[in-house]
Amino acid sequence: MSSDNKLVLASANPGKIKELQQMLDSLGIQVIPQTELDIPDIEETGLSFVENSILKARNATALSGLPAIADDSGLEVDYLKGAPGIYSARFAGADATDASNRNKLLELLAAVPTGQRTARYQTVLAYMRHANDSTPIICQGSWEGSIATDEKGDGGFGYDPLFIVSETNCRAAELDKETKNRLSHRGKAMANLLQKLQTS
Ligand code: IMP
Repeated sequence: MSSDNKLVLASANPGKIKELQQMLDSLGIQVIPQTELDIPDIEETGLSFVENSILKARNATALSGLPAIADDSGLEVDYLKGAPGIYSARFAGADATDASNRNKLLELLAAVPTGQRTARYQTVLAYMRHANDSTPIICQGSWEGSIATDEKGDGGFGYDPLFIVSETNCRAAELDKETKNRLSHRGKAMANLLQKLQTS
């Protein structure tokens, strides 16, 4: 970590920014979303969460001069052979919204029985100290569940109203934010990252 505990969060997704900010706030780390520094999103040309998280972190640290954390995440649906995966944010096309992505998923799974609707969220976090950092810290987290046939809950973001959490049997969108942060793919990856930062 830098001496003044400041870092840039390489995301423009308000749902992710909120969750990551909550996790880092409690540790006295000052998080600056890249949007506040007018840092534009970089094109996610990687073919894995790892590649995309590094691309995003490198862009944010290069343009800010501060250490950066990037999250690349998505939903893997077993029946769809892991789709939407790294394309989760743009599943329904270039102008996709969370609602249009969920509708597309519901349509594709319309005829699929309950037992075959298993899925998981994945997150990879990349922490880069500077733009030429050749040993970024990479942490991963996943969260098992399944895809419902209708939407419930108004918390979270993205696919949360459809995601049935295996531990609680309710939707991710029905969890309070502390519970989601504790159980989620992003929460697990962040716990792992903080542990590594403390010892690096
Ligand atoms: P990224 O910005 O390319 O990493 O896209 C991540 C996308 O995955 C989001 O736009 C959501 O569609 C989905 N996603 C990732 N994490 C979550 C989550 O915690 N809840 C719901 N959807 C998520």
